[in-house]
Amino acid sequence: MNSARAKIAMCAALTAIAAGAAQDYRLYNVVPMYSGHEAEQAAKCVEMYERTGEDLALYSLTLHPEGKPAREKVDRYVASFRAFVKALEGTKVRPAVLVQAILGHWPRTDKDIEPWERTIDQDGRTVRFCPLDPGFGAYIDYVFTEIAKSGPAFILTDDDVRAYSHGAECFCDTHVKLFNSRRGTSYTRDQLRAAVRGSKPGEPDYDTFLAMQREMMENAVVGRIRKAIDAVDPSIPAGICIAGEEHYMASALARRIAAKGQTPVMRCSTGLYGETMCANYFPGNYMRMRGFAEYCRGSGIEILDEADTCPQNLWSKSARSFYTHLAASAFSGFSGAKTWYVNGLRRIGPVAPEYTEVLADRRGRLDALARAVKGTRSVGLAAPCFVTHPGWHLVSNHHQFFVESPICSLSTTRFGIPVTASREFGDKSVVFALSSASEVARMTDAELEKLFSGKVFVFRDAAVALTKRSLSRLTGVKAVEKKLLFSTEWDNVRGVSMAYTPAMDGSVEFTAEAGAERLSNLVWQPYSGSTEREVVAPATVYWRNALGGECVTTMYHYRMYKLHECSVARKTWFTDCIDKLSGGDRLMTCGNLQDVLVSERVASDGSHLVFAVNLNSEPIKRFRLRAPEGFRFETLSCNGNWRHVLSCRDGEYAVLDLPVAFYEDVVIKATPAK
Ligand SMILES: [Zn+2]
Repeated sequence: MNSARAKIAMCAALTAIAAGAAQDYRLYNVVPMYSGHEAEQAAKCVEMYERTGEDLALYSLTLHPEGKPAREKVDRYVASFRAFVKALEGTKVRPAVLVQAILGHWPRTDKDIEPWERTIDQDGRTVRFCPLDPGFGAYIDYVFTEIAKSGPAFILTDDDVRAYSHGAECFCDTHVKLFNSRRGTSYTRDQLRAAVRGSKPGEPDYDTFLAMQREMMENAVVGRIRKAIDAVDPSIPAGICIAGEEHYMASALARRIAAKGQTPVMRCSTGLYGETMCANYFPGNYMRMRGFAEYCRGSGIEILDEADTCPQNLWSKSARSFYTHLAASAFSGFSGAKTWYVNGLRRIGPVAPEYTEVLADRRGRLDALARAVKGTRSVGLAAPCFVTHPGWHLVSNHHQFFVESPICSLSTTRFGIPVTASREFGDKSVVFALSSASEVARMTDAELEKLFSGKVFVFRDAAVALTKRSLSRLTGVKAVEKKLLFSTEWDNVRGVSMAYTPAMDGSVEFTAEAGAERLSNLVWQPYSGSTEREVVAPATVYWRNALGGECVTTMYHYRMYKLHECSVARKTWFTDCIDKLSGGDRLMTCGNLQDVLVSERVASDGSHLVFAVNLNSEPIKRFRLRAPEGFRFETLSCNGNWRHVLSCRDGEYAVLDLPVAFYEDVVIKATPAK
């Protein structure tokens, strides 16, 4: 056995022992159905358990109605699950079920179908079967009754459980009739589609249709599923996977499908499929993750990461980035993940065993990480987390996440400045980033005033939107669209020029209140390198407003990142602006001059936890962490133990003897000397 394999075997043994205890981070591991090969699939799951400690195997059954009679497929698939259960008897692996489809993810493609009413979507397309059809309702009952009778340890539905496919539903005859009877209208189908599309939240046509959508999901689908399971065994736990469209009802559905007394389980829509350029996509995905975590904080719901590897091979996603996604969710406060990778067989044999290898090597680290973040407070530049959905429209704007924050997704996550999300507007221990007009539009005047009673870093588009709403008193800056002639942005604090291309962006003029502090100016120079500088307008302004809040408002905006962000001066300016707002509590930023995503948490004993991902193909040899002198540093090893890290000082940075490979994460604990 070579040394690498010996190391993996040793780590696997340790994690398997650790998994005997309660898991702090649980994997809901999906196994493909393979009819006629159930014993082999079961053997793969046992091997998986022995190597990683994963004891929950969700047999994937794609059970939306297909063919006629539709129950024929159900009988065959459930029989396969029963064979899988039998093959696992006497082992430590607990068979469970992922109902990978019940309504169906896509429009129907089969030729011979049941005579049930079909859904009609917002564009008039005939798509799936309508859950209000009694025949389809009886089919749903049958599916979940048969599954429940097989004694699964858990039942998870997938994200086809939504009133979308992928347009809003349902405008079938039954739904049109129901709508007309409730509203006293006599709309045809096409008139109803036009009425819903053309109406706004709060208007009767819109509200009536939205209520029907919600009732369909809560009662005709999720409530019906729970009832069918309860009729067989009310103790069988169940959870849902939520889709991108219906966040407003996500927690209600998770509670509805849970067994009595069970902690509701909700897999969030945080998947990153077919990834290519990690620096472009991972940060935005991470911010979405933080939004879910913040939204569900304190709700009592167990939230799961969507760490799927679809289509389950290394072309889609590397094993190390799969693991990094899991670690990111554990650091964000998730309870676990639905993992969808092939550790069973998939027709031509096992695919991508690397996913199993990485878990065998580092499974215990996920539990340790989930334990470590409990009771800690997340700090960092915070994206506002919106717990309501104003502006959400079931037809025209049905993708609205809990956070938007393009500046966090695109800028600070590359600069190694800790990011987070918060719904505690006005909390003076948090520095918020307000970076888009759309975020301003999602908030009422009262919410904005609350936000601005705390600390806010305001970026150009948000500043313009606030000015248009006559709220520039909050920022001390009037931001008006106007073409300006200037050469560069001059950092007044550091006395350096920051890269800027005026041709791309000289379209807004700031006018600052008297007494506001100018941290940078737009300046005109006769030529590059000239010492002659004529101030054109303020570019970054610090202001303490009448509410007692502090803000830094800047011309900088998120669309500039490609050419203008990649400079040491800009990274330094970002950090300086945040330091100015956060006062003495300086964030633990990463000093390596390449793309690094960082998040930070603070524990009640004064120790800090830092999670970082190297998003740059240049491996980091020594991690540079901005930390006060006198701290000692540890890192989380693959087996979940903390290991001391040697360090030396370089100015404000601790230079840690800690390498980070491309797309891998590192967790650092920084503890102050007693
Ligand atoms: Zn319908």
